[in-house]
Amino acid sequence: MAKLSVNDLNLQGQRVFTRVDYNVPMEESGGAMVINDDTRIRATLPTLEALRAQGARIVLAAHLGRPKGKRVASMSLRPVADKLAELTGHPVAFADDCVGDAAAAAINNLQDGELLLLENIRYHAGEEANDSAFAEQLAAHADVFVNDAFGAAHRAHASTVGIAEVITARGGQCAAGLLMERELQFLGAELEVPDQPFVVILGGAKVSDKIKVIDRLLEKANTILIGGAMAYTFKLALGKSVGNSLVEPDKVDIAQAALDKAAERGVEFLLPSDNLISQMTNGVWADPEVNDAEDIPDSREGVDIGPATAARYAEAITGAKTILWNGPMGIFEDARFAKGTLAVAKAVAAATVAGAISIIGGGDSVKALNQNGLAEQVTFMSTGGGASLKFLEGKELPGVAVLTDK
Ligand code: AMP
Repeated sequence: MAKLSVNDLNLQGQRVFTRVDYNVPMEESGGAMVINDDTRIRATLPTLEALRAQGARIVLAAHLGRPKGKRVASMSLRPVADKLAELTGHPVAFADDCVGDAAAAAINNLQDGELLLLENIRYHAGEEANDSAFAEQLAAHADVFVNDAFGAAHRAHASTVGIAEVITARGGQCAAGLLMERELQFLGAELEVPDQPFVVILGGAKVSDKIKVIDRLLEKANTILIGGAMAYTFKLALGKSVGNSLVEPDKVDIAQAALDKAAERGVEFLLPSDNLISQMTNGVWADPEVNDAEDIPDSREGVDIGPATAARYAEAITGAKTILWNGPMGIFEDARFAKGTLAVAKAVAAATVAGAISIIGGGDSVKALNQNGLAEQVTFMSTGGGASLKFLEGKELPGVAVLTDK
């Protein structure tokens, strides 16, 4: 069922409690916390502009880090308020607490179209506990609830679920922000009946994190390309030696079940035919080399897909009409082991320019595209990591379920 959108509402003069995902990476510099990457803040700008244009009084709530119910100075959202003012070109008020007198006074001061950012909601333990009294406090100064925090929608917290329940119970409206809508469209509707060939690329550390996604996509994809450390658990299932590679030996049976399902359904399921291998010695990676053999020698570790695999994967991606990519092909944080991930990123970008729809499922794949200046060339990059995976598994997210149906 489609959910109400901010564009369906009339918000003139309404106090709109807007949950956003401003959990941005920060670093201490010269005694102050500095934002390293403002992608998540920028991603909310269309929603903020829509709210502002309607004359809403915009109350923004977000979490930062894991302060576990305590005030932790390094996790204050104050630097985000400054960044937001810079990006929107409008003043952004800041309330030192998300509930209580400080919040009430700041909200009462808001005029139509103005913005206020509340302090980190996770300074209160009631947030993660989805405590009903805390949710009531959050809802006390709100007429309407908007959720634009897709990245937090898989968690039933007070600012994602509790507040929506309170507002719904008193006859109020709860709507999806524009970013949330786009996430639901690309990770949901677009992948329901994807244009074929549908090529899925999955990488990263663990099979166990992504097996449910693999299982569901085996019902829709024509081709699945596997890279990253998770490939080695599949290799183990096929009886190959993986040396010291990162594997999950206790997940070999689920890897085997996925291989069987792919064979039954005629899904092309590709694993690396060659690998870059290396060996950690005294804390440094030593002697990287390409290993063409199916087996990885003892004491060596697979750290990236090899060049033949990268070329084969790029070829499969080139013919795709729909592409979904989640997870790096190797330890791409080290430039020497980033070639496989870069080859995939370039192929995805090129296929998109040639007309494919490409959907990037968040996290490290987004980072890889950004690092290589390819972000503008893909169709959609999800802002959610865990939430994207849960949604791709076909699960209803609690933060979405509570929004008002159209
Ligand atoms: P995930 O969060 O599951 O998408 O995993 C991302 C992480 O997987 C990145 O930090 C990569 O460094 C790591 N990774 C990818 N390939 C390998 C590999 N072959 N060995 C160890 N770690 C890997």
